[in-house]
Amino acid sequence: MSDSCCGGGDSQKKTSQACGSEPAPSNSCCCGSGGAAGAADTPCAWFGRMIQNCLEYATAAHAEGRPIVGIMCEYTPRELIMAAGAVPVCLCGGSADTIPAAETQLPANLCPLIKSTYGYHVQKSNPFLEMADLIVAETTCDGKKKMYELLGQTRPMYVLELPQKADDEDAMTHWLAELQKFRAFLEDRCNTTITDEKLREAMVVMNRERALRRELAELMTADQPPLTGRQLIGLKSSISGLAADFVQYEKALDMLRQKEVPCENGAPVRVLMTGVPMAHGAERVLDLIEEHGGLVVAMDNCTGIKPIEEDVDDRAADPMVALAEKYFHLPCSVLTPNNRRLSLLRDLAGRFRPQCIIDLVWQACLTYDVESDRIKRLAEEELDIPYLKIETDYSPSDSARIAVRVEALFETIRQR
Ligand code: SF4
Ligand code: SF4
Repeated sequence: MSDSCCGGGDSQKKTSQACGSEPAPSNSCCCGSGGAAGAADTPCAWFGRMIQNCLEYATAAHAEGRPIVGIMCEYTPRELIMAAGAVPVCLCGGSADTIPAAETQLPANLCPLIKSTYGYHVQKSNPFLEMADLIVAETTCDGKKKMYELLGQTRPMYVLELPQKADDEDAMTHWLAELQKFRAFLEDRCNTTITDEKLREAMVVMNRERALRRELAELMTADQPPLTGRQLIGLKSSISGLAADFVQYEKALDMLRQKEVPCENGAPVRVLMTGVPMAHGAERVLDLIEEHGGLVVAMDNCTGIKPIEEDVDDRAADPMVALAEKYFHLPCSVLTPNNRRLSLLRDLAGRFRPQCIIDLVWQACLTYDVESDRIKRLAEEELDIPYLKIETDYSPSDSARIAVRVEALFETIRQR
């Protein structure tokens, strides 16, 4: 899942507010007020058509003979795939609609992200998955690993073995060996040679993308941020490294840096979201938070800051070592111990000044669920801010209950 991850495309929607009490359309963060014609070429309009843009790009690349490679986790180094001349596309599912199809083969008591992704496979309804020449998976959580086995029965699949003791030196040695094996596999599969030069070129492209997205995320450190968390999460693509996206990122930065944000009263509560990724279409809890008085100033998850915090050293003597280090530093709950997640949260709390932490856990996600106790203690005992855990799935059936809990949290904070 990836940038994180965005399968076959549900709608973006709803309203939310950056500052003050007047909700603004979620896709209007940096589109100005220039009417329909003026807004047609804005970053918001561009990323509002993200799935369509990616589909057009992938279709054209495929027609030119470039392999399409589906990925489903931030541990998969896109740079290697790009250096092989292939196109990495995130396949993570964010739609509730595909879950019933998945449940014909998978247990109901499984993470919705896994089920949604698999449901697209059963229905054959994700055009990127149908186009994929290869799917790259990884040994992260048990649910994903076992789902990949089923997927691999009919789809071309490569599984990276992710060691799980992140601080052990031999774990890094093993991870490096895994990436070298993957490099050789890709060369064979794509009938090409992945030179160090091509790899460094891909690193530069990905570093550029990470830097642009970091700059956008950094805008949320302002006392009155020029966009909402929902708007920020919409400014990215299922396919990384697209030159057309870079143009739009730069345009968005120019527009947002100049944007004036009137905020006389009713300032929203600043929220740091942590936990599971919100694949494209699965942003319901984020919407609820921002519709009920919050502003998500930072998200440490895989659809937020986690994958873009660190770059790859493209000038390192051994680019493979640099690549292995960057990706192995990703603080996912499948690792043990996962101390880097707490370090990242401390850092984000200092920079973004949240008034609370909201921890999103998808139902049946054991690793994030168990880890939530450490996050609660970090928030309450160390950072001295309230903590709220929300465990849910893709169904909107508990939205009213979540809204009540979020409102109660914000009320407590306003009274502090
Ligand atoms: S949360 Fe963990 S398993 Fe999921 S995409 Fe991120 S790194 Fe991969
Ligand atoms: S949210 Fe949890 S259970 Fe779901 S895929 Fe990610 S790590 Fe696995």
